[in-house]
This record gives sequence, C-alpha cells and structure tokens, in this order.
Amino acid sequence: MVSSVETATGPIDASDLGRVLMHEHVFVISTEIQQNYPQEWGEEQDRIDDAVSRLNELKKSGIDTILDPTAIGLGRYIPRIQQVAEQIDLKIVCATGLYTFNELPHYYRRRNTSGVDALTTHFVQDIVEGFANTGVKAGVIKCATDKPGLTPDVERVLRACAQAHRETGCPITTHTNAETERGLDQQKIFLEEGVDLTRVVIGHCGDTNDLDYLQRLLDAGSILGMDRFGIDGYLTTDQRVEVVARLCEKGFAEQLVLSHDASCYIDWIEGEVPLAPLPNWHYLHISRDVIPALMQAGVSEEQIDTMLVDNPERFLGSQNLGGY
Ligand SMILES: [Zn+2]
Repeated sequence: MVSSVETATGPIDASDLGRVLMHEHVFVISTEIQQNYPQEWGEEQDRIDDAVSRLNELKKSGIDTILDPTAIGLGRYIPRIQQVAEQIDLKIVCATGLYTFNELPHYYRRRNTSGVDALTTHFVQDIVEGFANTGVKAGVIKCATDKPGLTPDVERVLRACAQAHRETGCPITTHTNAETERGLDQQKIFLEEGVDLTRVVIGHCGDTNDLDYLQRLLDAGSILGMDRFGIDGYLTTDQRVEVVARLCEKGFAEQLVLSHDASCYIDWIEGEVPLAPLPNWHYLHISRDVIPALMQAGVSEEQIDTMLVDNPERFLGSQNLGGY
C-alpha cells in the first residue's frame, strides 16, 4: 500500500522518507520575547541561511527527513520553516499540538464549553486544511507531560490530541519526563480515549536507563523515542547507546526511533548551537558518533535501518489511514 506523508514542501510517499530523525526542532523561539527584544535573534535572513546550511550538512551526513515537533508553545511559525524547506533537499515533517507542562495559554481557557474543545478544532484544522494560509499540513500531533504530571490543562491537551488523532488518523508524538514515568500517564489517557498505542511515540524515553519502565511502555505497544542524544545531563551518549543496544538485543528494534531533540536556534539557553555545556547536542551527533557506537555495541545494520527508516515510515505513513 502506498501512503503519503505531509511535509513542509508538500506530501511525499512514505517510502521516500529515507532515514528519519524523529524529533528535531529547527527554531525554538519565545515568540513574544523575541518580537520585543530581537537582539539575540538578529536578522531573520541570517537565521534562515544558518538553518539551510545546518540542514544541508545533516542531509550530507546521511539523514533524509526530520520530524520537527515544534508545536504551539515552542514558537512554531510555518512560513519560516517553508522558506528553509524550499531551499534544501532534506524533508521536514511539521507538527500540530500544544506544548505545556502546566497550564494552557489564556486563549484556550474558556474555549471548551460548548462540547467541542477549541484545541481539537485547531489540531484537526492543521491536519486537514493546513497551517494558516501556508498550504502546509501537519504530519504529526505533539503534546507534553512533564514533572507536574496530569494537571487539568495537560490532561485536556492529551485528550484533545487523542480526539484529533481519532478523527484524522494523524499519529501522535510526545514529550515526557522519563524519571517520573510520565509516559505511563500519557498511555493511560490515550487508552481511555480509544487510541491505538502503536501509533504513539512516547518521547524522551532515552533519558532513562530504567528498563522496567521502558518495558512497560513497550508492552503497551508504543514506539519509544530514544531522541535526546547529546543531552548529557540526563544520560550520557554511552549510557544511551547501552540502553538502545540492550533493547535491540531483546528484540525491540521495531519499537525504537532515534533523534537528538536539537535545533538550529533555541532561545532557552544563551549562545549558539552547539551550546558550550552540551557540545554533542547538534544534528550530526547520531550520524558521526552514535551509529558507529551502536554498531560497536552489537546493534546490526539492519536494526539501525529499522529504527531510522522502517519505523518512521510505518508510523508517519499511517497518517492517511483516516479516523477510526
Ligand atoms: Zn523537543
């Protein structure tokens, strides 16, 4: 069956995605602050040129597609992504959804009273009609659950994501805090909403080496995002490699995807990428260092392809299967 995937330059065949990094941002921006204090951002054109050159380098390193889960709350602005995407061969899959650890933006506070949640309406609009007037459609739905857990607003976001998923068939990818086992909270809500958990990537699972926790997520069917290579504060690359190798050895390569959660520009920390405290947190770490280390640790070439090619193709290609 041929299935297509929406990208910033239009739909492509899922089988043409190639090697995919499943969680990479292009720009992470605190938009209102940037607009009022634009010094750090500098010139728009320079930032676009910088992204083009970094993503060209990534393509040259053997990666063909990135999934950019920059949702509302992370400074998503699709016209800028389009400008970058039009100048490069690498494909970018864009995301609908909303990123918060605690509360919703005030805009949404009272917009769920008439039986339809404005969140769901917006998510479905991004998937079906596209983002604003760009013509670009969302290829994935994003949400987050961090240390504060299922706050009332976070739970509302998860349910809205689940409903948009069930209505459209668009798959879900998440941010979690692994240490507090937030992936299990997400699976619980998604199950209550009737979501098939094989169509959910539980993000940031690579931040822990608690194999019992990871096993529970795997047993429920989800794909695990081993997606923060280079963020050494949670686990070092060696530790992350060891966990992936163990899970591959146990036969779970078909439920793992790889990424860095890096960006070209992120205004959460001062300085240019790669940031001084995180020298490996950039797009090229997996191609240059992680793949050789995985192979050294006993992961086969076939398993690497499963994680970088087959799993993304199956997951992203499921989006046009329609609702339930
Ligand atoms: Zn992220």
